[in-house]
Amino acid sequence: MKSFHPTPRTLMGPGPSDVHPRVTAALARPTIGHLDPEFVGMMDEIKGALRRAFRTENEMTFPVSAPGSSGMELCFVNLVEPGEKVVICQNGAFGGRMKENVERCGGVPIMVESPWGERIDPEGAEQALIDHPDATLFAFVHAETSTGVKADAERLSARARAHGCLVIMDTVTGLGGIPVEIDKWEIDAAYSGTQKCLSCPPGLSPVTLSDRAVEKITSRARKVQSWFLDVSLLTTYWSGNGQRTYHHTAPVNALYGLHEALVLLEEEGLEKAWARHAKMHEVFKAGIEAMGLELLVSEEDRLPQLNAVQIPAGVDELEVRKTLLNRFNLEIGAGLGSLAGQVWRIGLMGHSATYENIVLCLTALEQALIEQQANINHGQALAAAHAVFCR
Ligand SMILES: *Cc1c(COP(=O)(O)O)cnc(C)c1O
Repeated sequence: MKSFHPTPRTLMGPGPSDVHPRVTAALARPTIGHLDPEFVGMMDEIKGALRRAFRTENEMTFPVSAPGSSGMELCFVNLVEPGEKVVICQNGAFGGRMKENVERCGGVPIMVESPWGERIDPEGAEQALIDHPDATLFAFVHAETSTGVKADAERLSARARAHGCLVIMDTVTGLGGIPVEIDKWEIDAAYSGTQKCLSCPPGLSPVTLSDRAVEKITSRARKVQSWFLDVSLLTTYWSGNGQRTYHHTAPVNALYGLHEALVLLEEEGLEKAWARHAKMHEVFKAGIEAMGLELLVSEEDRLPQLNAVQIPAGVDELEVRKTLLNRFNLEIGAGLGSLAGQVWRIGLMGHSATYENIVLCLTALEQALIEQQANINHGQALAAAHAVFCR
């Protein structure tokens, strides 16, 4: 055995994205006890900053000590009781995981589907709510990382609330990158991840639960199936009234990293961070289109932070990704599921959403495509991107 020293990469896939150097530095600070008063004070700051990022007053807002999938599992395992009907919107990979969660909780999933790359139509979702008046929960993915589609969160949630459902939203790729308005949209349970738009390593899942959601959990007929993710037990650890009791040992250093990432987000300003993601998407899009490539998702439904770029005919897409990784230390993502071989997924998330990364990506992609004699326009992408950057 020798020490492990990974080659530094530029991360422009579907996550993890580039970690800010100040976050990396924070991770290396001295480990202290997880019930040390100093640490407890930092936990409270994290909760406050997450509330501001989620735009909520929810008391139950905290990071789960495991990756985004654990936040997903926490929401479903606490809110779904056996036999309950849950309307689930699926237009990509992550909606499928919601269905899997509901089934494992003994719930009955009612699926509302759209093709991968298209958004969920709020009318279709409403029809499912009309057809199943006994449904109690409604779940959708705000930012579908498998396709680059943004949900019409406000309208979907409004329909579900009008039918008396509690609303669960996956915003793993949304938080910090595009507007998330938990209170305004009346979302009851939302989960995110640290490694997408928060410029942090993977391993934590910020979640927020409304008072309505907490009430449903506390009046459950039977105990939550999962001990680790049971919100009623986690409350004793994360509640802010000085009476913290041991539940599990928090990942102390990982939380230093999240704290620093949230400091960075507040220094930049949440709305400025949204604007930077939107702007960098415009810059990238200009370059990609000047090269003659196309984005999969229609303009109005696109996520700025996840760009599904259609692979030109005759191109060996794996070879392109290998060239990017081996020659440029640049990672982009492959297509998932029905989009495998059809698109690359190019992330502009958090600290990865910078002009210098876009210049590297456009340069590397163009060179890799030229080597494959792909039918693209040469030498125009950077100028087009620069023109938008300077606007
Ligand atoms: C990445 C992602 C997840 C899962 O997060 P992990 O940290 O990989 O567990 C869930 N939902 C969406 C939309 C994601 O992009």
